[in-house]
Amino acid sequence: MGSGTSNGVPVIGCGCPVCASADERDKRMRSSLYIKGEGGERIVVDTGPEFRLQALRAGIKYIDLVLLTHSHADHLHGLDDLRQLSRIRPVKIYGNEQSINDIRERFAYIWRKTQKGGGKPRIDLHTVNDTFSFQNLVITPIPVKHGNLDIFGWKISENTAAAHVEAAYITDCSFIGDAPLALLKNISCLVLGALRVSRHETHFSFDEALETVKRIGSPALTRGFFTHIADEHFYTEINEYCARWLTKNDMRQVTIQSAYDGLEISI
Ligand SMILES: [Zn+2]
Ligand SMILES: [Zn+2]
Repeated sequence: MGSGTSNGVPVIGCGCPVCASADERDKRMRSSLYIKGEGGERIVVDTGPEFRLQALRAGIKYIDLVLLTHSHADHLHGLDDLRQLSRIRPVKIYGNEQSINDIRERFAYIWRKTQKGGGKPRIDLHTVNDTFSFQNLVITPIPVKHGNLDIFGWKISENTAAAHVEAAYITDCSFIGDAPLALLKNISCLVLGALRVSRHETHFSFDEALETVKRIGSPALTRGFFTHIADEHFYTEINEYCARWLTKNDMRQVTIQSAYDGLEISI
């Protein structure tokens, strides 16, 4: 639902060529993902500041769960817009201990007795560290580093009518250890945060993201998409960069492209 870094693209006050681009795929709302399971499961990963606009654009009618990667503003502060989606029943929210604690602190009004009626979202908070099931889906947190912060990527596994499928979403990552990396060996599709060509302390650069795909090194993994992208590169330029890198590294079995807002992927 969104593919941009914390500022979003265009960046307020910036007149750079990417911010001024007429290509819709260069307009990046804050990073977010909407998952539709074959059994009717509906999941959102991260409720950033544009969550309302993204939910309208994606035609979301209901959601069962929200999976949080971490509690930075660009991933969480649209949470209040779960109000409409939690009128019939509360939305379950899963995250690591710090993310869940930060929700209690930043959205303290939700639990205040003076806040009556529909003026707040109805949410059920769940701290998780391990795999859990929801209907037909198996959901696994992937612990990764975002600078010094411990955050989660998420892997979703599903037994569809046709096959067992696994895919993962990992954003705002600057390091993945070998153990969490091994959890990704059966995924066929990976959405991975990749900020820009130049390096950054708390986010993978394009090369570091591509190296991560190489490290996973699994023939099952045939598609990757970059997300959480800065305003330094055009959509088309990123695709060319990835294609060149993959050819140079003899990895023709996998395609890596830039995600864009509104991109739909069938797995
Ligand atoms: Zn972020
Ligand atoms: Zn972050």
